[in-house]
Amino acid sequence: MLREIRTAAELLNWRKVGMRVGACPLCGRTGFIKLDDYEMAVRCLKCRASAATLSFVSVLNALLPDLSRRHVYELSSRGPLVGYLRRHAGKLTLSEYFDDVPPGQYKGEVQCQDVQQLTYPDDCFDVCTSTEVFEHVPHDLEGFREMHRVLKPGGLLLFTVPMAGAEKTVERARLVEGRVEHLLPPEYHGDRIRGSAAVLCFRNYGTDILDRLVAAGFSRRRLVRGEDVTGWGFDRQVVVARK
Ligand SMILES: [Zn+2]
Repeated sequence: MLREIRTAAELLNWRKVGMRVGACPLCGRTGFIKLDDYEMAVRCLKCRASAATLSFVSVLNALLPDLSRRHVYELSSRGPLVGYLRRHAGKLTLSEYFDDVPPGQYKGEVQCQDVQQLTYPDDCFDVCTSTEVFEHVPHDLEGFREMHRVLKPGGLLLFTVPMAGAEKTVERARLVEGRVEHLLPPEYHGDRIRGSAAVLCFRNYGTDILDRLVAAGFSRRRLVRGEDVTGWGFDRQVVVARK
């Protein structure tokens, strides 16, 4: 144990480490910790939300301060954002994508859904949310169309994807007859179910992601800059679209 602590301490670059008190959009008065200069290394000490989630929820709170009468659909099943939605949403539907479970079926308590072909009826949710999902969806336009279909008229889609500030989306891979074809060297990201560096990133989005939402049928769409909650500068752009 002592050796593990020593190794962890050696891995830390102490010049990058920081601690601050502040207000967490998910859990209120808290402290924030920064273990390194990237957003996943910046967390709320109480609810453990990362800088990306903190910024996302700041936008969610600003646009929808009261979720108590809304039916929210979130494209994941665990983590600080799910905890927050459990506490605040009037009704909450959660799902995960498992490649070994048919959409609509359950793995344990968690329902499997493929965002490209959801099993939900039309017009059933007030709000759909996701963080860092669509860059992993082979046919993202089909996913956006499905989000539009399951939202009630006037419903809101809010999500984040990694965006480095480019205008044009760069396709990195595509699915052809069920097989992945790499157009660029493969890029993998981690997730809560499969672990680190386990999920292929199909594209790096640019701000032209808004055109895809128009193509999917959304009437209004924009990028909203989230709050720099921690003061360390890890604010994110949140994609917001209204049906
Ligand atoms: Zn918190």
